[in-house]
Amino acid sequence: MFEYSSVIHVHSNYSDGSGEIPEIARYASEVGVDVVLMTDHNTLRPLKDGLEGWYGSTLVLIGTEINDQKNQNHYLAFGIQNTFDNRLSAAEYVSKVKEEGGIGFIAHPFEKRNHMKEHPPYPWTDWSTDEYDGIEIWNHMSEWMEGLTEQNKYQRFVHPLKTVEKPNDESIKLWDKKALERRVVGIGGVDAHAYKQNMFGFFEIEIFPYKVLFKSVRTNIFTKEPLIKDNTKLNYNKKLVYDALREGRCYITNFYHADAKGFRFFAEADGKVFQMGETIPNEIPKIRLRVNLPQIVTEIRLIKNGEFIDSVISDEAIWTINNKGVYRVEVYYDDKPWIYTNHIRFI
Ligand SMILES: [Zn+2]
Ligand SMILES: [Zn+2]
Repeated sequence: MFEYSSVIHVHSNYSDGSGEIPEIARYASEVGVDVVLMTDHNTLRPLKDGLEGWYGSTLVLIGTEINDQKNQNHYLAFGIQNTFDNRLSAAEYVSKVKEEGGIGFIAHPFEKRNHMKEHPPYPWTDWSTDEYDGIEIWNHMSEWMEGLTEQNKYQRFVHPLKTVEKPNDESIKLWDKKALERRVVGIGGVDAHAYKQNMFGFFEIEIFPYKVLFKSVRTNIFTKEPLIKDNTKLNYNKKLVYDALREGRCYITNFYHADAKGFRFFAEADGKVFQMGETIPNEIPKIRLRVNLPQIVTEIRLIKNGEFIDSVISDEAIWTINNKGVYRVEVYYDDKPWIYTNHIRFI
């Protein structure tokens, strides 16, 4: 397995972001992001304009964030060639992304922010569909805005990274519940726009420059083959990245606390190794869940079916399990949420 640090859910000047894609890629490269997944609103124009590819050591891939006519049900879609008629319902575009061989993630499903009139909440409302690949369980922008009050706004603007703490509770709950039925991949998004806005009446402020946000919520992915730094190999690289996301071989981490690269969570059973996102056949009686941290001793928690069941303070953990369920791991760095893995299902 080959690990890459990705930043998902980024807007450029092709929609309501302020930056150009090559500039965004440069910022990403400067802070060690391997892959950036762009998601401009309802457009794949940057894809047509040939902006996918390597920029230094960073690979930029282009998806889109689709919404319905009420500007709700935001859906992060990748691996599709065209956007759809904007009169489609959410259930329809979720199906279409799948039909076209793409992958899709429900964005900020329970967004509630209400502190800035120009940025209302955009929750997911159409739960009739069950064809989405995953859920954005942590969205930096949503969390930051939801916690915004008149009293703390200056502090939050000055410390955009310190004020982001953990994934959305309702999203986690839904994710754990759905995982009992099928694989649902959890991802983290930044929702970066680098809005330039007159916030305080007398000077313009850039809300969250890209480079700052790229040091927060990341989704580290595991590909089966190494990415090749060659723009003629774009389809090969895309397939590797999208397969890792589709199959749930990824974990979410807040890079602000520490670089999690080197972290591993997998299961050993019956002489085989099962990765995050995989389902272990139910006839296997004895399973070892293993965690390794990159030379950091901290708290590792095991979560089964959404419930905390054990924790250790170490740079590794091994649990032997016999009971069916969906298992994932949370890691805390100085008591702060740092890593959320995808589930290994034993059902
Ligand atoms: Zn959105
Ligand atoms: Zn967005």
